[in-house]
Amino acid sequence: MKLYATQDPSLRVSFEEALFQSMPRGKGLYMPFALPRLSPDFMKELANLSFRQIAFEVSKALLQGVIPEKALEKIVEETLSFDAPLVNLRENTYVLELFHGPSLAFKDFGARFMSRVMSYFLQESTAPLDVLVATSGDTGGAVALGFADVPGTRVTILFPRGKVSPIQELQLTTNGANIHALAVEGTFDDCQAMVKAAFSDEELHRRFRLTSANSINISRLIPQTFYYFHAYAQLLRQGISKVVFTVPSGNFGNIGAGLMAQRMGLPVHRWVAATNANDVVPRFLSGQSYETRKSVQTISNAMDVGAPSNWERIMDLFSGNKKSLSDVLNAYRFSDVETREAMEMLFDHYQYIACPHTAVAWLGMEADRAEHPGEEVARVILSTAHACKFPEVLPDRVKQALVIPSQVEGLVSKEARVTPMAADFFAFKSYLLNR
Ligand SMILES: *Cc1c(COP(=O)(O)O)cnc(C)c1O
Repeated sequence: MKLYATQDPSLRVSFEEALFQSMPRGKGLYMPFALPRLSPDFMKELANLSFRQIAFEVSKALLQGVIPEKALEKIVEETLSFDAPLVNLRENTYVLELFHGPSLAFKDFGARFMSRVMSYFLQESTAPLDVLVATSGDTGGAVALGFADVPGTRVTILFPRGKVSPIQELQLTTNGANIHALAVEGTFDDCQAMVKAAFSDEELHRRFRLTSANSINISRLIPQTFYYFHAYAQLLRQGISKVVFTVPSGNFGNIGAGLMAQRMGLPVHRWVAATNANDVVPRFLSGQSYETRKSVQTISNAMDVGAPSNWERIMDLFSGNKKSLSDVLNAYRFSDVETREAMEMLFDHYQYIACPHTAVAWLGMEADRAEHPGEEVARVILSTAHACKFPEVLPDRVKQALVIPSQVEGLVSKEARVTPMAADFFAFKSYLLNR
């Protein structure tokens, strides 16, 4: 597997380089040089394959021998230690539940795969890998639980003190000895700035083997292609072959992975991106120019992104052609008021408890349905997190009906370890040097 830099296609790197470097030194992101088309035999057999079999075939095609089959099989098996079931809400309407992993959010797929792939390449090296990550909640939990006890790795997570939900904080602070949580006296932006400063610090680079674990890393997108094929396989078993996917979007990595899956041969009729008030993409697709802005805070806060980092990859996939992109992708934005109403409606009509992000996807799906009345198609929304991670924004009657999953019960009895940290790079650097 070769990758190129989107802003400088002559710059080509191996998968291993893209994995540990995350992004090119200049600008842009890494993209696979050629997305392989899956064989007709694979597509014909899809309905009969298990999630792990699908994931193995898709990753084998993508990685093209970079990791030997036996090792890849083990990585896939460890990544997919939980399922992604397709739940039927009403005729032709489904929820693809991606929150059954250890951190109760879809980011588990990316973080688990990335940690194991990194660990595979580290076997030949002696220096431990230092993973730095800033989080507003979901990414940190998935990365912490994904790297917990992975040999040869040490993870430092910066989160804004008091600004993550109680369950998110437990996920960050109750892990194995190789995971360190820093509660920063500041905002998420402060955390991100401190991590960025660390990456450009010469001394830290000399002392440590630093890498980042955010969604610009191509290894996080690879496992996210798996569940689109798996969802389609589940539809095929019910005799359905025409599908519209709606993806609640922030950095646009999740839907980007879906578009990659489509390019690899997954037949998808249309895509819908649903956002909250952070609507750079819906504005762009409705005819305005592409303008990033400062993020605004909403109740679906994992999507509070003013400059979607993976949009670069999507434009690259369509060679910058807005017209051909808008032929397959629609985008809508929704307010917090609409999101709350959707959570109530889903509960009242379907007894379905949705997190705010999933509710935004539901609204996107309904908007797309209204725009294409009478279309014979199955509609699938991606449910990106378990509602219990966001108790403070759930409507009361929904909160009362919540059943706390077993992953959380285990956390409460664990000892929490966290280091307080000023929102100051030099304090952070001194911590890294003296730990
Ligand atoms: C990260 C996240 C999203 C947004 O996914 P992107 O890949 O950034 O578009 C949506 N929902 C939840 C719960 C998340 O944690």
